[in-house]
Amino acid sequence: MAKPTTPVEEVEAVRYGEAEGGGCDQAGCENQEAYRCLYRDRRAVDCSWVACPEHLNVVEGRAYCLRHASVVEVLALALARGTQVLPPDLDNRCASLVLWVARDMDEPVVDRLVRWGDSNMSIINDPAIRYTRPDRLRQESGHWERLWALATRTGIILRVGLRVDDSRPETIILTGGTTHLVSTVPPWIQRHLSGESNRASPSDLVERLAFQQELLLALDNYVEKYGVSFPKILITARV
Ligand SMILES: [Zn+2]
Ligand SMILES: [Zn+2]
Repeated sequence: MAKPTTPVEEVEAVRYGEAEGGGCDQAGCENQEAYRCLYRDRRAVDCSWVACPEHLNVVEGRAYCLRHASVVEVLALALARGTQVLPPDLDNRCASLVLWVARDMDEPVVDRLVRWGDSNMSIINDPAIRYTRPDRLRQESGHWERLWALATRTGIILRVGLRVDDSRPETIILTGGTTHLVSTVPPWIQRHLSGESNRASPSDLVERLAFQQELLLALDNYVEKYGVSFPKILITARV
């Protein structure tokens, strides 16, 4: 006797991104039930678009914004023909700046978390650059962020964030818990903004290292002053 066949479409549930408050991003759409686009580019930058099921397209069981659904379709088609193409970069300069600085910060921050933690703690090192939508109630602009943290089983005890706000795309902000430790325009961007980009500059590497040290010093001072245990209520509210 032949085995019963199961129709694939009925079994496969659609996977949506995280549910978000604030409604669908599509102009004119009033729908409040909305999810993040699941697109993540080859550098682990997440798409910032949030839309209702009507304004998301499903490709291979996963829901994307209309633009990324077509990108993912092309990638899937290429893969079916035997060529793997990595998901192209999201074109967002705030996300790119976070990513650029986070590359230099990753190793020294993780080293510190190892040093500051103990055997009861775990290290969260999330390579994704995530977007948080503007919070109108708190009058906060949207921002892109890379996150490291120390956690125990009950929650996060030290949260280190590197972020760029939409409203200040040249400024890197380093946070410890909910505190802004450093908020500064990196020297190579300062030079560019003041039109000095053609003038002789210190070597790129020296400049980057100095900038990295400035951020790390602020983090070290913060932990030296406050330790790694923070009131849980503050931390959980932001993660
Ligand atoms: Zn919609
Ligand atoms: Zn998208």
